[in-house]
Amino acid sequence: MEIYYGNIAYSKSKTELVCHKNSYIVVDNGKVISIFDKLPVEYQKYQIIDYKDSIIIPAFSDLHVHAPQYPNRGIAMDELLYDWLNKYTFPLESKYKDPIFAKEVYEKFIEDLLRHGTMHASIYATIHNEATDILINLLEEKGIRSFVGKVNMDKDSPDYLIEDTLESIKNTEIFIKKHQNNLYAKPIITPRFAPTCSFELLKKLGELGKKYNCGTQTHIVESLWEREEAKKCYPGCTSDMRIYERADLINKPFIAGHFIFPSEEDIEILKKYDGYAVQCPNATVNVIAGIMRTGYLLDNDINLSYGSDISAGEYLGIYRGISDSIRLSKIKSFYENDDRSITFKEAFYIATKKSGEIFGNVGSFEEGYEFDALVINNMSDSFIDLSIEEMLERFCYLGETKDITHRYLRGKEIII
Ligand SMILES: [Zn+2]
Repeated sequence: MEIYYGNIAYSKSKTELVCHKNSYIVVDNGKVISIFDKLPVEYQKYQIIDYKDSIIIPAFSDLHVHAPQYPNRGIAMDELLYDWLNKYTFPLESKYKDPIFAKEVYEKFIEDLLRHGTMHASIYATIHNEATDILINLLEEKGIRSFVGKVNMDKDSPDYLIEDTLESIKNTEIFIKKHQNNLYAKPIITPRFAPTCSFELLKKLGELGKKYNCGTQTHIVESLWEREEAKKCYPGCTSDMRIYERADLINKPFIAGHFIFPSEEDIEILKKYDGYAVQCPNATVNVIAGIMRTGYLLDNDINLSYGSDISAGEYLGIYRGISDSIRLSKIKSFYENDDRSITFKEAFYIATKKSGEIFGNVGSFEEGYEFDALVINNMSDSFIDLSIEEMLERFCYLGETKDITHRYLRGKEIII
């Protein structure tokens, strides 16, 4: 039994942020038992870990991140998607045929992910099996709840980063079989996006998904270029989502990266299969150049989540994604007039409980949730007294990794 004292905050729903000032959170076996303003007698015999006026919050989830692109953070941010991919991203990804390089990067990536307070993630690797094994094994050893995908691409890709269709399918099955019984880091089918995948490949991946009960992550209507290119490659398909539906590749969980320019048909199909749309607020203004209609999608009960999208996005901290997402929704509603701005409560909910639900009971402190938690510096200063919600909001706007003073994964402190 562990008891932590401090200012405790978590989301219950998109309109409900629960805040407990100077309270106790009781954790047993890595799971939240309850939160008390006054500690009941039966718990008073246990040692209390006193975080004083700090804030204790659930850890974040990142639903769209490319681990191999980690070395390219903050580079080529003045390019747009097509050139950024061809000049910078694809050449870097080809280096992961070297497992030594892969291990070096992936170790640092995971350490940095935790440093930024992210404890659950859906991650793209590359086409290379050996390097992808290294990534998923590192995550499994650390007990990080995650999905990891060996990327598939068999057309319209550079010669140094393209697969033969049958090889791609065979290697994906080998990868899934090897890791399907993992406890924490699970395989997910990862066609890069429709323009780089043949229909035969998508169809066979759909069969693998059914056979091994494996979800799918990919990029959906990421940019105007990607949307039009996908339609050109798949004549007869009126939307990006329709391509995946025709290929029978919408297995659970279905994680649609970006979802910036969806048609009503895309939205309808995503909703029908209970898929998740991932906003990547950093990436969206770096190389993608489009803004998701977050308010509109929220109001239409689409599952929304956040991703860092390293390295189209430059920053791993999902807390920064929260503030960027709010900012972007204001710009969208003001200049394009086809959305409403979202609230801090909604954004924090998306980043924690909503994104977390894909991994199980994580992302909240309701009873039975895993105690994956961050202790954040009190963000007040001497000029003004802040409420817990305001401190939290300030952390999402001004916070840095140094403001995360402790990290817990299923009740065990992680030392970085
Ligand atoms: Zn991406």
